[in-house]
Amino acid sequence: MKSLRLLDIRKTFGEIDVLKGVDLDVEEGEFVVFVGPSGCGKSTLMRIIAGLETQTSGSVEIAGRNVDAAVPAKRGIAMVFQSYALYPHLTVAGNMTLALKEDGVGKDERERRVEKAAALLQLSALLKRRPAELSGGQRQRVAIGRAIVREPRLFLFDEPLSNLDAALRVNTRLEIAKLHRTLKATMIYVTHDQIEAMTLADKIVVLNAGVVQQVGRPIDLYNRPDNLFVAGFIGSPK
Ligand code: ADP
Ligand code: MG
Repeated sequence: MKSLRLLDIRKTFGEIDVLKGVDLDVEEGEFVVFVGPSGCGKSTLMRIIAGLETQTSGSVEIAGRNVDAAVPAKRGIAMVFQSYALYPHLTVAGNMTLALKEDGVGKDERERRVEKAAALLQLSALLKRRPAELSGGQRQRVAIGRAIVREPRLFLFDEPLSNLDAALRVNTRLEIAKLHRTLKATMIYVTHDQIEAMTLADKIVVLNAGVVQQVGRPIDLYNRPDNLFVAGFIGSPK
């Protein structure tokens, strides 16, 4: 069973074809990175997978089930955005448990999951703080924690590091890699940064102007790019 299948996903906004037929199979536990220039449709595709946007045509399957009619909360996924809006009046723990409360998860279970996620993300000492008392990197870790506590089998990350400075970007990237090893969940990760893509991905999907240019292991894309766009973006020239 595939963790995620995209079947000929198309999306039109007005006159503009943003996604022009995207197909993809993702295995359980795989780390798949989408790379491509700004405006090529990466976020639109993530929002369609999450159910926050409806495709013009095509289908999304998650864990073997067609989810085209399913609301975001029923898709078994969690999404981490680049702008990690936390609730300023809630503590770190409060921010992490809010969605669980809405999901109807009991208090003991909520606490257990928050403690576990906090330990994993080195947030245990900060659970009573409010977002204003945290650094940018800590806030982003809370946003990741908020996704982890829902225990999804599929994570969507949309440029989660783009608001962090260079040093923090490296640290947080290593943490996400560690998280993947620990949770063994499927991760779909969007970036326009080649280094992030090369270091995190089991499989890279190169997207340009709504069309998948090439899919493959980082090393294969680097050594054998299918076309000049892929070569320019990640590969060494043919
Ligand atoms: P990326 O994440 O790769 O930078 P996006 O998916 O955000 O790209 O956007 C792809 C294209 O779709 C852009 O041209 C953008 O302006 C357009 N677009 C995205 N969302 C909307 C929308 N809600 N309405 C109209 N156009 C949109
Ligand atoms: Mg985007």
